[in-house]
Amino acid sequence: AEEREELTWELFGSAGRELARTVADDGYAPDLILSIARGGLFVAGSLGYALDVKNLHVMNVEFYTGVDQRLDLPVMLPPVPNVVDLTSKKVLIADDVADTGATLKLVRDYCLDHVAEVRCAVIYEKPQSTVKCEYVWRRTDRWINFPWSVLPPVVQRSGQVLDA
Ligand code: 5GP
Repeated sequence: AEEREELTWELFGSAGRELARTVADDGYAPDLILSIARGGLFVAGSLGYALDVKNLHVMNVEFYTGVDQRLDLPVMLPPVPNVVDLTSKKVLIADDVADTGATLKLVRDYCLDHVAEVRCAVIYEKPQSTVKCEYVWRRTDRWINFPWSVLPPVVQRSGQVLDA
């Protein structure tokens, strides 16, 4: 089997802090963090606390349907945040990984014409990414296992009654 990049929950804790450190050291003080659901929610939550930013927004983008299985183009799912709310704001887009970069490009371009400034923070960036993120924790060309998506979804056990 081909080698995977494994992010554990423990490593994720360090990654969030270290990523926030690079943002702060760079002197970027975002007014709001725009997370790309679902993976970006974890990153945005971590950065929100570490950078003391309480203004968090979510954008839902669907692109991947499985390991290296993706749609032709990433699509924004409703509700899409109102860019009017973001006018004259400094935005930090947070996501788990820039792979092709298509997802980040979609979200960044959506913001670009409206907001004062937009920068991207990711845990991982792959070499082929068309978006070069300002803040990157690690670089890899492997498929990454994230702690939040490595296990299959919890489903109701058949023939059993769920109780507390
Ligand atoms: P992109 O648009 O940059 O190709 O992909 C962005 C999204 O695809 C990520 O936010 C993530 O949900 C998914 N993705 C891309 N590469 C990987 C990977 O190596 N591992 C996992 N688990 N998801 C990935």
